[in-house]
Amino acid sequence: MSNPTLSIVIPCYNEESNIAQIIHRFDQLASQLPSFELLFVDDGSKDKTVEQIQNYKNSSHAYNIRLLRLSRNFGHQLALLAGMRNSIGEICITIDADMQDPPEVIPAMIKAWKEGHDVVLGQRNDRAKDTWFKRTSAVIFYRIMTVLARGDFPANVGDFRLVSKKVLDVLRSLPEQSPYWRGIVVWVGFKRTFVEYSRAERFSGETKYPFIKMVTFALDALFSFSKKPLLFVTYSGFALCVVGAIFLLTYISLKVTGYAFVPGWTSIISLVMFIGGFQILCLGVIGQYIGRIYEQVLGRPQVLHYPAEDVHQARR
Ligand code: UDP
Ligand code: MG
Repeated sequence: MSNPTLSIVIPCYNEESNIAQIIHRFDQLASQLPSFELLFVDDGSKDKTVEQIQNYKNSSHAYNIRLLRLSRNFGHQLALLAGMRNSIGEICITIDADMQDPPEVIPAMIKAWKEGHDVVLGQRNDRAKDTWFKRTSAVIFYRIMTVLARGDFPANVGDFRLVSKKVLDVLRSLPEQSPYWRGIVVWVGFKRTFVEYSRAERFSGETKYPFIKMVTFALDALFSFSKKPLLFVTYSGFALCVVGAIFLLTYISLKVTGYAFVPGWTSIISLVMFIGGFQILCLGVIGQYIGRIYEQVLGRPQVLHYPAEDVHQARR
């Protein structure tokens, strides 16, 4: 088969129990799609994900199956980057391996692309199946980002999306060390639309985003799309200076005019502690940006992988 029209990039980290379901779902869907390939990106899985995918070597499917193995676990966003860099279709769709984002929505995405859209974002209209924690943290996160970030951050949009070749070429050439794709696909502009869907439960296995990874992800989003924390540091430093000056003038004038005042040990200590703590917080915020500059200046490749493997060639 010549190059498929559509590359479907599926990042997998310890997803052995989901591979058969993915294949099953795409088998069912194949007749409604243009020629396509499934490009599995194994993000350094420690289970049998790779073997599960390679099992399809001698199977019979109407689409190609390829496998890209990263040299270690780089994380979801960089697995997506590696997948996009290796996708060969006219359009590229990224989708999670746990089938929380139903592939049955893909025909609607392709229709939107045919109508001239370059970015088609899957938008969850129902998160009832997500845990309470996921839903609440998502609401808080989108509120913060709406206030702090430049541009708009559409809520309830994950990494289930279609991009045209034009946008794909921009995305895969970006040198960002910690890309936050949900923000970047909005930042690139071009004609964008949404396709709504209801988010399913994880088909099998557990979430690969434990609390600490979620926090890191949120910080990547914040610091790569907003300079407002730095403004906050500047303004609050200025405000504290003003308050300090008022205190100083008050105490000096009390002393000069001979009014008795008791030197307040408690207030001094609490002020010292407050200001000290605040300064460290400010340093931390600045440090976040410096850390990112440092990583960027090192200029290491963002992600490394083995050559892509052709697991299965389409039989139509
Ligand atoms: N994933 C990955 N590398 C990681 C963590 C996750 O490739 O280090 C993949 C994972 O296999 C899945 C997708 O990213 O296909 C989303 O992860 P998950 O479903 O666990 O996230 P959640 O839906 O719980 O936010
Ligand atoms: Mg999931």
